[in-house]
Amino acid sequence: MAQNELVFASLGGIGEIGMNLSIYGVGRRRQWLIVDCGVSFAAEEHLPGVDLILPDIRYLIEERKNIVGLVLTHGHEDHMGALIDLWPRLNVPLYATPFTAALFEARRLSEPGAPKIPVNVVPLRGRLTLGPFAIEFISVAHSIPESNALAIRTPAGTVLHTGDWKIDLTPLVGAVTDAARLSALGDEGVLALIGDSTNAIRDGRSPSEADVAKTIAELVGTAPARVAVTTFASHVDRIRAVADAARAAGREVVVVGRAMERVIQVARETGYLDGVQDFRGAESYGYLAPDKVLALCTGSQGEPRAALARIAEDEHPQVTLAKGDRVIFSSRAIPGNEKAVARVINGLVAQGIEIITDRTHLVHVSGHPRRDELRDMIGWVRPKILIPAHGEALHLAEHAELARRAAVPHVLVCRNGDVVRLASNGAQIIDEIPSGRLYKDGSLLVDAEARTVASRRRLSFSGIVTVALALSEKGVLVADTEVELVGIPETDAGGALMSEIARDAVEEAFEAMPKPRRRDPDAVGEAVRRAVRAAIAERWNKKPICHVHVLTV
Ligand SMILES: [Zn+2]
Ligand SMILES: [Zn+2]
Repeated sequence: MAQNELVFASLGGIGEIGMNLSIYGVGRRRQWLIVDCGVSFAAEEHLPGVDLILPDIRYLIEERKNIVGLVLTHGHEDHMGALIDLWPRLNVPLYATPFTAALFEARRLSEPGAPKIPVNVVPLRGRLTLGPFAIEFISVAHSIPESNALAIRTPAGTVLHTGDWKIDLTPLVGAVTDAARLSALGDEGVLALIGDSTNAIRDGRSPSEADVAKTIAELVGTAPARVAVTTFASHVDRIRAVADAARAAGREVVVVGRAMERVIQVARETGYLDGVQDFRGAESYGYLAPDKVLALCTGSQGEPRAALARIAEDEHPQVTLAKGDRVIFSSRAIPGNEKAVARVINGLVAQGIEIITDRTHLVHVSGHPRRDELRDMIGWVRPKILIPAHGEALHLAEHAELARRAAVPHVLVCRNGDVVRLASNGAQIIDEIPSGRLYKDGSLLVDAEARTVASRRRLSFSGIVTVALALSEKGVLVADTEVELVGIPETDAGGALMSEIARDAVEEAFEAMPKPRRRDPDAVGEAVRRAVRAAIAERWNKKPICHVHVLTV
């Protein structure tokens, strides 16, 4: 049996939403198939200076010889965003459907200095054999064109890796979820379903993109002055809905933001905006009458450098809004971005601009399946095993419970790094492989376990004191002590200068040392460090980091 043993493991995306990376292994000397390679976005206050979080792939680097390929389910950043940084370390064949491949290439070209990364293009509903894996792409509806579930046939049985999906019978672009194909797969027999859990806590079914388009058309049609709409740049359905709404209202669409321009170009090249009118660049905005323009903007997540945040701060060179204009958030804040989005909304409200969000209008729906849709998937596929993926602990638990109630024989909740054997008698965690996170810090990748970012967080919380002393061989201070404070209040509650407090502490600590000890630079440094920290902590109730340099002269 071990000869054809099939295992599944995740290096990201289980127990969290983001940085999806799953692997499947077959055989005694395992051959591996990688599915997706995504990032998570860092919330600024927890990880100062870190933009992205990537899965730690040291295990895959070790196993590189045994990797048969990497398949992308779709083009969202949480599924392909880590490739530009990580692919060079793996150098394995990459496969994606046309829109995903084109979007990836456009992303890569936008990154200065990114390496050339070849992508093999697989047609929609295509098939691919990589080592012991026969992979079939099955179209599913989602919030980006060309999301694919993968049917992975192996000598030990078939796995359905759902990727991100939902049921939408009337999307504006792209395919509907291929229920017939999924049912046929179920008839053939499916060993395991690895499934999207994002919305497992939400009852019922997702509304359709067509319903959202209707609402947007009404809101654009009744807008008294200028309208701006922001959505996820990759949401081509929504871009189409906005374009249709603008056309019906006699407005020109002006595209604001590079990420949006990039996706629009890719969508036009791949046919997903066929029949949609031409859009204009931001330079046209100022020439159009308020009731003849609609600005389609990036920045739905409150990103400070994106178009909408700059408009809200009145800092955009071409696009301005004023009292009486209407801004539609055709999006929802990804967890962690709520504060940033609120900041943008407050900036706009303060200028008298009307804000419309999904709190009051159906201007956004999620791209993930709610509970009735999850039940449909289980009904089509009828797996022996179900493993919830793509979710935080709560989502996984709810998906698992739903699957048990839907009479799936074996349901297993696992964690990143668990190696799960998938067999007809059930799923079992048999091993653990190294997993973790990397931070994209400037142009470097640093291990999340390294002290770099933790020290930076400490610095941001309590600042730093630097002390420089010059010590003679005989143990006498020979010059004035230098004290520098960064990020520490200038004075204490009584108005005394903190730098003087530190300087006094240095002198007192030095004087308190027995004379022979004063000749030992290390002992002096340590005594001074403790004294300075204690003296400042006494006034401030916070302990700064303290560095002492003892120069011997
Ligand atoms: Zn997605
Ligand atoms: Zn996703």
